[in-house]
Order: sequence, then structure tokens, then C-alpha cells
Amino acid sequence: MEKCIFCEIANHNLPANIVFEDNDVMAFADINPATKGHLLVIPKRHFINIFDVDDAALNRILQLAKRIARIMPETVGCSGINLFHSAGEVAWQEVMHFHLHIIPRYNRKELQRPFVPHSTDRDELKEIALALNKKIKEGFCNG
Ligand code: AMP
Ligand code: ZN
Repeated sequence: MEKCIFCEIANHNLPANIVFEDNDVMAFADINPATKGHLLVIPKRHFINIFDVDDAALNRILQLAKRIARIMPETVGCSGINLFHSAGEVAWQEVMHFHLHIIPRYNRKELQRPFVPHSTDRDELKEIALALNKKIKEGFCNG
């Protein structure tokens, strides 16, 4: 099986510009930054994406992302941050090891907003919200 590049980075078998690491998580510079200071936060354990990451790992990732986000303005001079996660090839995920992008923002124009409204169908909104709410009430969201 092909080696996972982010597992290799987490195990120090591949070089990376590491911003922070502990036993569970790591933050390092994206090799092709979308803006100056673009980072990735990963769990050291291999999870593919939001569909299979466990709660403990996700909590650590979000906690680290929050802490890093707060020091970004004073460190790189950004005025905002996008947090970004792609799950699945259809959603542009290229590296199949969970990662959360931290993308510092300097102005509104430097990136394209990735979504535009696909529909103005109010019935569709209602239908989907009801369907999800029903699943949640049935307990499908646990764990
Ligand atoms: P995604 O499309 O969300 O799967 O993003 C994968 C990201 O990983 C891209 O932004 C790449 O630039 C980044 N990337 C790929 N290989 C490396 C690497 N060896 N070190 C740092 N970042 C990488
Ligand atoms: Zn991996």
C-alpha cells in the first residue's frame, strides 16, 4: 500500500515546517500556500476526514486551530482566517489524512469564495432540515 504523506510527516519521516506538535496533533506549513502563512492541522493518528475522525482527535485539532488562529494576525499580519476542510474526492480532498486548513486572509479579493447559492428553493431547505432533525432525534448523531 502507498504510504500516507501526512503520516510520514507526523512520524518525522518526511520534512515539514512544523509550527507545533505534541503526542496527538501537529500543525505545519502547507507546501503550496493559498495565502501567506497557510497551515495544516492534523491528528498524528491516521483518520481520513470528518467522516471517520474520532471526537477526541477532532477536539484537539479544533483547539489547536483556535490557538494558532489567534496568534496569526500579530504574527503574519492577516486580518481574518478561513478554516477549511474537504472530505471526499468530490469535495476536492487530495490528501486522504484528516487535515484542517488554516488560511490567513489579507483582503477579500485574494481568493474566490468557494460557494454560490445553488438554489433559492425554500421547500428544499425545509425538507432537508426536517430530515436531518428527524435523524438526530433518532440518535443517529451519537459517537
Ligand atoms: P486537500 O485538497 O484539502 O486534500 O489539501 C491537501 C493540501 O496538502 C494541499 O493544500 C497541499 O498543498 C498540501 N500538501 C501536500 N503535500 C504536502 C507536504 N508534503 N507538505 C505540506 N503540505 C502538503
Ligand atoms: Zn495518514
